[in-house]
Amino acid sequence: MRSFDIPDHFKSPIISKVKDKRKELDARKLDFSPTLLDFGAVKIQLARHFGFCFGVENAIEISYKAIFENPGKRVFLLSQMIHNPEVNEDLESRGVKFLMDTKGRELTPLKEVQPDDIIIIPAFGASLEMEGKLKAIGVDFKKYNTTCPFVERVWNRAYKLGDKDYTVIIHGKPDHEETRATFSHASNAGAALVVADIGEALALASLMANKDAVGVEKTFSEMFKGRASAGFNLSKDLENIGVVNQTTMIASETQEIADVLKKAAKGSANTKDTLCYATNDNQKATLGALDEGGADLVIVVGGYNSSNTSHIVEICEKKKPTFFIRNELEIKEDGVIDHFDIHAQAHISSEGFMSELFDLERVPTILLTSGASCPDASVERVLHKILARFDCGNDVDSVLNNWALNLGSD
Ligand code: SF4
Repeated sequence: MRSFDIPDHFKSPIISKVKDKRKELDARKLDFSPTLLDFGAVKIQLARHFGFCFGVENAIEISYKAIFENPGKRVFLLSQMIHNPEVNEDLESRGVKFLMDTKGRELTPLKEVQPDDIIIIPAFGASLEMEGKLKAIGVDFKKYNTTCPFVERVWNRAYKLGDKDYTVIIHGKPDHEETRATFSHASNAGAALVVADIGEALALASLMANKDAVGVEKTFSEMFKGRASAGFNLSKDLENIGVVNQTTMIASETQEIADVLKKAAKGSANTKDTLCYATNDNQKATLGALDEGGADLVIVVGGYNSSNTSHIVEICEKKKPTFFIRNELEIKEDGVIDHFDIHAQAHISSEGFMSELFDLERVPTILLTSGASCPDASVERVLHKILARFDCGNDVDSVLNNWALNLGSD
C-alpha cells in the first residue's frame, strides 16, 4: 500500500516502532493478537491495528498540499475532513474554513464562495446535489478531492446494483456525511433506502411482508422520511434488493441486517457488505485483543463523532469497562476522566478512574486503541499520561527494545 506525506506532529515514534515491527513479522496480517508492553507497574496492550487508514492519510496529504499550493487564497473544506478534532483544528489554525457541519448544516453560506476559492472534498465524499451547486458557482472541486477510494467503491457497487434493477439498501447512519453521499449516488442509480440498524431492518421486513395492507405505505413514508429515493414505491421497490453499507459499520450487524432483508425480499437479494479494509482490520484487532483476555480496562481514543471509533467502543464495552476519550487531556490528575457515552451521546465525567486497578494484587493491564482517524501522536500522549499515573520508572525506549528482543530480533 502506498505511503503518504503526513505532518510529523501527527506521528508517534513509539507507535511507529511497534507497528513497523508487527508489520515486518506479519506482512500478510494474519495475526490479530495485541502487542503487550510491560512497564513494570502497568502492562499496556496495543491493538494490532489502529490509527490512520489509507483514506485518512490520503485526505491529509491532499489537504495540506492544497494549503501549501495556494497561499493567499481562501481554502474551504466541504465539511470536517475526517472525524477527528485534532486534525480539523490543525487545518482551521492554518486558515481552512468549513462550508458545512457534520450534519450538512451550512456554516459558510455557499453564495459567499467565489470561483477562484479552493474547495477540498473530504474523505467521506460529496453528494451529487452539492457537486451540482459547486459546479454552478464555477469552482474547481475536483482538484483537491480527497474522497476515499473505498467510499467510491461503495458508490460503484450501488451503480452496478442499480443497473441490474436492484433497489440499493444502505446500512448506515442517516446523518453521516458518507451515508448522505452514498444515498445521493445510489438514488442516481435507481431506487435507494437508508436503514440505520437491525431494529429498522426488522420493521422494514415486517412492512415488506404486509406491503398491501392498509396504512403500510403511510407508516413506511413516516419511518423512512428523507431516507428513501424520490418516488420510492413500497410495493414494487423491495422485490429485488442489494445491500451496501457505510464503510465503518460493525461487520456482524451488517450481516444480521442483510440476512433479515434477504429473507424478506420476494425476488433476489445481493447482500455482500462494503466495509472497508481498515474497519475490518481494526474490528478484528479489537476482537483479537479482547479474546486474548488480560485487559482490566480499555481506553479508546478518537473523535466523538467518528463512526468507526464508536463501533470499536461498542465492541469493547460488551466485554470490558471502556472509556472513549478524545485525547490525553480528558484524563485528569485527580482520578477524574471526561469521556463520551455513545448511548446517551453525551460527554460525561467519572470519578475514581483506574482506582480499582491500584487495588489489584497483580500488575494491571490496559488495552489501548484508537479509530482510523486518530493520529498516533494522540495515542502516544495518552500512553504517557497512563504511565505517569502509575509512576512507571521504566523508560519507554528500553521497554520497546526488550519487547523487540523478546520477539527474536531487533
Ligand atoms: S475508514 Fe475506510 S472508508 Fe473511511 S477513510 Fe479510512 S479506508 Fe476510507
